[in-house]
Amino acid sequence: MTFIAKSFGVAAIVATSALCAFGAQAEPEQNDGLNGTLWLQTSVEYKTTAMSVYAGATRLLDAAIGDHSWTAALEQDGNYMTKPPAVILDVDETVLDNSAYQAWVVTDKTHYSSKTWAAFVHDMISTPTPGALEFTKAAAARGVEVFYVSNRKAPEEEPTIENLKKYGFPYADEKHVMLRGEVEEWGSNKTPRRAAVAEDYRVIMQFGDNFGDFTDEIDGSIAERLEVMEKYGNYWGERWFMLPNPSYGSWESAAFGGDWGKSGDERRQDKLNAMTPWAGPAE
Ligand SMILES: [Mg+2]
Repeated sequence: MTFIAKSFGVAAIVATSALCAFGAQAEPEQNDGLNGTLWLQTSVEYKTTAMSVYAGATRLLDAAIGDHSWTAALEQDGNYMTKPPAVILDVDETVLDNSAYQAWVVTDKTHYSSKTWAAFVHDMISTPTPGALEFTKAAAARGVEVFYVSNRKAPEEEPTIENLKKYGFPYADEKHVMLRGEVEEWGSNKTPRRAAVAEDYRVIMQFGDNFGDFTDEIDGSIAERLEVMEKYGNYWGERWFMLPNPSYGSWESAAFGGDWGKSGDERRQDKLNAMTPWAGPAE
């Protein structure tokens, strides 16, 4: 019996080695980004959702321009009604699709790093998210200035502008592309940059794929974030427009308390714990 078991063991090892030698599929390593990135990069469901968001906003442009009391910025104050209209859009996964970087992370079994991200940005291969180009052009054609407020870093301004220009995004210039660290008080928190735009313009719409693209009240628990979302209930779909991003974002870190110091296994366990499962079929 022992002999048979050992023989099977050896046979299994030989068989596995043979399969590998012929390039057969080993069990792929799990990566939490797989489904989200696959959805972003390949699905018509993603593309049509993004197109729908931008199409809805385009239909509201004339109303937003015509109503001088209309503003989409919490930072807007004072006599803003006579200021010229502007829109603010985030860049990554809002106007530019970087799913190629996420796909590399998944297929190369690696993780995000600022170094590889900077190399990707300098390659300038990001493509427009569906509907973004049409919307920004429609806004520009109506005399609405377009600002790109992104947490890409200041040294990435030139490749970001070039990447936007490559596809004909309007206002892709140093004034309108506002990146993190360009000015000392411009940190990852976007309030100072929204305030800077609101100083000279009436901000009629904002676009993002992350809660922080609209408000800085994003670092709470899942329940606290829901409360903030509800507080601004009448903004969504009228003045604030959210693009879906199942690949990454503050929604994910909220599940593990924003603690990136935790190991991958700990973060995955926290994410599992954050879900509300059905009890299962009755015995
Ligand atoms: Mg983004």
